[in-house]
Amino acid sequence: MFLMVSTAFAGEPPVDEDIQGTEEIVSDDDVVVDDELDEDVEEIFAEAFDEIVVAPAPLPFTTRGNAPIPAFAPPSDPAVQAYWNQRHTFEQYEALFKYLAGRYPLHVKLYSIGHTWEERDLWCLEISSNGKRDGKTPVAVVGNIHGGEQESAEAAAYTAWWLAAGYGARDAAAIDALNGYVWYIVPIMNADGYARSMYTGTRQNMRPRGLARDEYFDRNGDGKVGQMFAGGSATAPPFGGALTLPSGATSNWAVDFALNQITDTANNYLGYEAYDTNGTGRFGDSTKQSAIDMNRSFDYFWTLYRPGNADSTAAGYPHLGANGTWNADPTLRNAGPYPASEPEVKAIQDFFTFLPPRAMITGHTGIQCVLFPWCYTPFPTDDHAFMSGTAEQMRVAYESKVQTIRPNVRFYQMQSYFDYPTAAEMIDWLYGRLGTHAYTVEVYNRGTANATNCVWDDNAWWNENFPARWEYIGQIRDGRSGSNQRTYNDVWVYYSTSAARAGEAPPDQYILCDGFKDCALAMAYSEQRNSPHPGAPAWMKWSFFTTIPSYL
Ligand SMILES: [Zn+2]
Repeated sequence: MFLMVSTAFAGEPPVDEDIQGTEEIVSDDDVVVDDELDEDVEEIFAEAFDEIVVAPAPLPFTTRGNAPIPAFAPPSDPAVQAYWNQRHTFEQYEALFKYLAGRYPLHVKLYSIGHTWEERDLWCLEISSNGKRDGKTPVAVVGNIHGGEQESAEAAAYTAWWLAAGYGARDAAAIDALNGYVWYIVPIMNADGYARSMYTGTRQNMRPRGLARDEYFDRNGDGKVGQMFAGGSATAPPFGGALTLPSGATSNWAVDFALNQITDTANNYLGYEAYDTNGTGRFGDSTKQSAIDMNRSFDYFWTLYRPGNADSTAAGYPHLGANGTWNADPTLRNAGPYPASEPEVKAIQDFFTFLPPRAMITGHTGIQCVLFPWCYTPFPTDDHAFMSGTAEQMRVAYESKVQTIRPNVRFYQMQSYFDYPTAAEMIDWLYGRLGTHAYTVEVYNRGTANATNCVWDDNAWWNENFPARWEYIGQIRDGRSGSNQRTYNDVWVYYSTSAARAGEAPPDQYILCDGFKDCALAMAYSEQRNSPHPGAPAWMKWSFFTTIPSYL
């Protein structure tokens, strides 16, 4: 019996029923004992490929900046070839995840564990040798809690892809990684921030902030969103090609204009590339981001020692938890209006309450290190020796892989508090509530490496390839109807350096990803195989007894 699955990567993805139904393909008789894995893998694959035939997919992704290179390491299954020196959109990731689940229905399950404010799915790939989690050691990876830290999403997605396709290709290392372990990988936790960061840097999520909104729109189709000015001529950009921000402008210039916080009578500023459908005369006056840093908003010592708290000042503590300005408006607090207020954070907490991992990584970008709890206090955890030892193994694994092509790149490890103190971080929640050995892995710090600095050696690429530039797009309309419509002539778009490089990948992203995978494997191997988590405390599960998601 042959079932053809979509042969074109860009074609119809497998429908949810196929994904959810994969457990039925393997009967209880097929549950393997992992020390007999090799034989059973043969058997399972023979059975699986009797059921499902998948022709090789075409190359799935288009280039953003870098010429594509083939996959760096095993797996070599050409059906799931992907290019990891490129930056992928959220939609490309969704297509890849669905493709992996359809290609490997026995060892890859895909489901959404929740949603974002803008109704994007929080995809989880559950990867195990035989589609069974019972009796195995659960380990987890969550990428991109900070939207603009795109490298962390690439690294997490790469790890899922490596496990899924590597096992599919019967790569020995991937088989070992699934021997006695079940992996839960959520590559993009801040899916809205990730999508927005393709245009403009966004650490925060996208909780609405109440402004009338014109969403950004790439008016000239060059894959970037810049800021528009009307006037001048087709041959002469505004400001004579230079640009100085008006006095009082912040980085969120269009919103400043919309709120009348600054004026611009001289320069004919229009706003971000967008339509002005709400007729304010400002294009793209959308919220760029919320005020919320989701990694300060978990339900564990939430807003401890907040700014303005006399006790915290007296004790000499920095602004733990709120990470900056305390705002009387609860929706404008960095830590959110109340503990676990954000749907993305709630989804992660709910998911891990029911499927607690033994060990877990949350991925970030900005420095290069492995950190472990506590974040909120300088005191050590009860597992300090274990987690610091594992963090050192993870650090060495990451660094040694990267140094095969970048000898000067370095990583460090330490208790998170001593990197900088925070409260209500994900790793404190995981360890504090569930006893999970939890690690923050920072995958990338741009800059120039040298003997002492802990940074990626891409400074030449970063600075030289994305200079600020002007582009002429001519006449545009604001997108309103009838007599309301306005027309603007001789419009120019200005791309700052950061706007020009948004959504671009460093050329060596693939080694950044592969080193992260090695780091994740080191974390998994620090935990005994076939050692399930004993389960969350009963009180954590009370609120779910009537609403257990069907996939659990
Ligand atoms: Zn981060």
